[in-house]
Amino acid sequence: MSNKQKRFILPEDEIPRFWYNIQADMINKPLPPLNPATKEPLKPEDLYPIFAKELCQQELNQTDTWIEIPDEVRDMYKYYRSTPLVRAYGLEKALDTPAHIYFKNESVSPIGSHKLNSALAQAYYCKKEGVSNITTETGAGQWGAALSYAANVFGLEAAVYQVKISYEQKPYRRSIMQTFGAQVTPSPSMSTRAGKDILTKYPNHQGSLGTAISEAVELARTTPNCKYTLGSVLSHVTLHQTIIGLEAEKQMEMAGEYPDAIIACFGGGSNFGGIAFPFMRHTILEGKKTRYIAAEPASCPKLTRGKFEYDYGDEAGYTPLLPMYTLGHNFTPANIHAGGLRYHGAGVIVSQLIKDNLMEAVDIQQLDSFKAGCLFAKVEGIIPAPESCHAIAATINEALKCKESGEEKVLLFNLSGHGLIDMSAYDQYLAGNLTNYSLSDEEINKSLAEVNELNK
Ligand SMILES: *Cc1c(COP(=O)(O)O)cnc(C)c1O
Repeated sequence: MSNKQKRFILPEDEIPRFWYNIQADMINKPLPPLNPATKEPLKPEDLYPIFAKELCQQELNQTDTWIEIPDEVRDMYKYYRSTPLVRAYGLEKALDTPAHIYFKNESVSPIGSHKLNSALAQAYYCKKEGVSNITTETGAGQWGAALSYAANVFGLEAAVYQVKISYEQKPYRRSIMQTFGAQVTPSPSMSTRAGKDILTKYPNHQGSLGTAISEAVELARTTPNCKYTLGSVLSHVTLHQTIIGLEAEKQMEMAGEYPDAIIACFGGGSNFGGIAFPFMRHTILEGKKTRYIAAEPASCPKLTRGKFEYDYGDEAGYTPLLPMYTLGHNFTPANIHAGGLRYHGAGVIVSQLIKDNLMEAVDIQQLDSFKAGCLFAKVEGIIPAPESCHAIAATINEALKCKESGEEKVLLFNLSGHGLIDMSAYDQYLAGNLTNYSLSDEEINKSLAEVNELNK
């Protein structure tokens, strides 16, 4: 055991200096987002009222493969990067598998998840443009916490709309946001037109990422010098997250191995794309045979049971129309504890990659995810975020297949965050109070009906 290296860490000067833009290498580019009023393809200028200009350009950039990380952002990455690549010897032993299991530990960031990688970049570009206020939505509170931290770093005011159910289930995330100086409002709220409309129709609405996005976008559009920011789904967010995979590439080299399969949980796709895309580059350009597996919750199965259509990114229909796998923008997922995975759509890049069979997706039931998370905690010593438990469950499934076949495959998964602020979810699991949710085709078809109308 003594000569087995457990963790692989890069020196500071090896932290990547560029993000990787997979759009430039994709053979079939994502279809263009459409302006919902004119149904014309979106131009970067159309997004300027909502997002910082550089981010709008990054969003639609299909030509530049490498995008330089600004020094100011890279300096802040140094507070927690590189994150360790870890060989999961404990998990391998517990599963008695011949597979080599590695994970990239993004839970070591100051707010406990990968979200900070994009929050720092987005806050920086807003600051550079002279913006004073930023706003956003948050589900489980991970993105809101990251954005609050980043706003504080770059001297911006942050207003966060938090999905009501999470606001109540995860009070400590709210405290973290407030500690960094952010103003936090549960959504739907009476503070916006969108929130009022939703509450009038559904007085007991528990909130969803869709309702919170609608409120935050409205605030950005109606407040001078205020920009909206988004923690997932959009292409520029995933671009910033490629720092994960670019580091992992170097670290796997230190370990002398190359992954056969790369696995990550899937909400809007940013941590998945972040770890997968730098490796997928070699699949697209050199035909490298690697599997890329997105693990989504069975209660919100947009990749495996959704439909590829143009749909809104939010409940109220404020965002551009995005070509993506979707369950319908009015789909309200069951109240699973992996709040960060309760989103109806998949993002335009990943949706195109699924269509082109460059990646696959699996559905994980809530109870299986927590069972995997508890095993991981016991054998690797880290309590994973409920979201990350989905990646662990999918990895365990692959490792057990290796046990059956005797194959010594190399598996790499992303540990997107720790669960230390989600212990109420673990309490519920340990007390036997959690259930699986089954979703009928009728329910899915019902929420897709409106999307079908949109695409007529
Ligand atoms: C937000 C979040 C996710 C899901 O978002 P993606 O954009 O799909 O990565 C997953 N894990 C954690 C810990 C999160 O905070």
